[in-house]
Amino acid sequence: MKRPLVLIYLVDGARPDVMQELIESGDLPNIRKEIVEPGTFRTATSCFPSTTGPAYLPFLTGCFPGTINIPGIRWLEKAAYHRNRWARNSFRSYCGYEAAYFNDDIPADRPTLHELFDRPFNTFSMITRGLPKGHDLTAKVKSGLYMRAHFRHKWEPVDQASHQHLMLGLEQDPEFIFAVFPGVDSNSHLQHPRHERTIKAYKYVDFSVGQVAEKLKKLGRWDDTLVIMISDHGLSATDRHLDLANFLSDRGLRTLAYPIIWTHKPKASVMISGNAAGHVYSLQNRDGEPLTGDAVPHSMGDIWPELLVQPEVDFVTWRQDANTFAVESAQGRAWVQRQGAGLCYLPQTGDPLGLGKLDTPLDHQQALEATFDSEYPDALVQLEQLFNCTRCGDFVVTSKTGCDLRYTWEWPEHRGSHGSLHREHMMVPFIYNRKGWDPRPARTADVFNTVLKWAGRPTLDNTDGKALC
Ligand SMILES: [Zn+2]
Repeated sequence: MKRPLVLIYLVDGARPDVMQELIESGDLPNIRKEIVEPGTFRTATSCFPSTTGPAYLPFLTGCFPGTINIPGIRWLEKAAYHRNRWARNSFRSYCGYEAAYFNDDIPADRPTLHELFDRPFNTFSMITRGLPKGHDLTAKVKSGLYMRAHFRHKWEPVDQASHQHLMLGLEQDPEFIFAVFPGVDSNSHLQHPRHERTIKAYKYVDFSVGQVAEKLKKLGRWDDTLVIMISDHGLSATDRHLDLANFLSDRGLRTLAYPIIWTHKPKASVMISGNAAGHVYSLQNRDGEPLTGDAVPHSMGDIWPELLVQPEVDFVTWRQDANTFAVESAQGRAWVQRQGAGLCYLPQTGDPLGLGKLDTPLDHQQALEATFDSEYPDALVQLEQLFNCTRCGDFVVTSKTGCDLRYTWEWPEHRGSHGSLHREHMMVPFIYNRKGWDPRPARTADVFNTVLKWAGRPTLDNTDGKALC
C-alpha cells in the first residue's frame, strides 16, 4: 500500500498579496490548478521575530522561537556570556558558520517533523535534525550554491537545485518533504518584493509545482498527497537604515554586534534579526539576569527618549515584571499583561499597537482572533513567547516598514526587510490542496500538528499550535 505524502513548499519570504495577485492574473497557473482550485487559499500569522531560521521552527517543531530558546537569527545569552564570553553558547549568528549549530540548539525534547515521519526529506532547510543519511537532498551542494548566489546576486540556480532534488526525492518513497525555495526572499532583499526578478522566483515555484504534480500523478500518489505552500514571513521594501549598534556606540555605549565580536569590554550588545527587529542586551549587570521594569530604560543612560523618536524606530518592548510586557513608541506606552489563563492589552500613556483596550483576558486563540486583522497580528502571544526565553534581549527594538536596523556591515545593502511584528512581515500565504479545514485564524505553528493529524500520526500537545484538519 502506498503511504500518504505531505509536501511542504516553503516559499521563503512570499507575501500573501503578491501571491494572490499572481494567481488571479494567471501568472501561477500550476499553483492555481493543482492547489488553489481543488483546495484553499488563506493567510496565517508567522512568529516574532519574523525571520528566516527561527521562523522555520513553527513548521518543523510546532513551537515559537521563544519556546525553543532561539529568539532570533542572532542572539546572546547573558548568563553564559558573563560566565565565559568565548564559550560556544554565549552568543550566536546563524548567518555564518554557526548556522551548523542550529540543529543542536533545538532542545532534544522538541522533536522535528523529520524525527516524527518515517521517510522525511529536505531541500535547503537550516533544520535538518532527524533526517536519515542521504535524505537531506541538497546537503552536498548547499554551501557552494549559497556562496556563489550571495556573491553573484543570482539565486535562480538555488531554486533550480531545490526543484531538481525535490524531483529526485519523489522517487525515494517519501512520507514527508520540506522543500525550501529561497529565491523570493533573496531577490526581495536585493531588489524589491515586487521586482521582476522576485516575480520570476514566484513563477519558478509555479513551474516546480507543475512538474511535481505531473510526476506524482504518474507515480499514482497525487490523490494521497497533501501539498502545503506557505512562507516563513512577508517582506517590505526598505530604503532607510538606522544602524542600531552604531547608534548606541556613537553615544558612548560600547556595543558588541556581529561581525565585530571581539569588542573590548562592551556595555551593550545588539543582535539584529531579518533586519527589522533587534535584541538589545545590557552587559553591565554581571549576574546575567534579565532586566525588568524601569531598570530597562535606565540601562541605556539618557539615550532612551532619543531612541524612541528615531524616525526608523517603530516601538521598543521589554519585561515590566513577570507577567507584564511593556510596549513603547513615540505615541506612548502600553502593557501586554497575563491575567490568569489569558492576555490583556492595556494602554497606559498611549496605544502604540493601535489595538484599543483589550481588558478581558484572551486565551491563545482569542488573542489571535482579536489581533489577526490589526497592524500587529498575534502581538500579545508573540511578545509573551519571546520574553519567556533566556536569550531574549533586555529590550527589543523594531523598525517601521520602509526602514531597518542594520547598515554598516550589511553587504549588499538590503532593499527589503522582515523580522518585525508588523503585518507586512507577519502575514504569510497559506495554500493547500484540501478544503473544509477549520477556518479559524491560523498560525504557522498550526501546520505542525495539522500535517501529523492528516497523516494519521499522533499530534503533540506541548507545542504552540493546534491541528486545523
Ligand atoms: Zn525567510
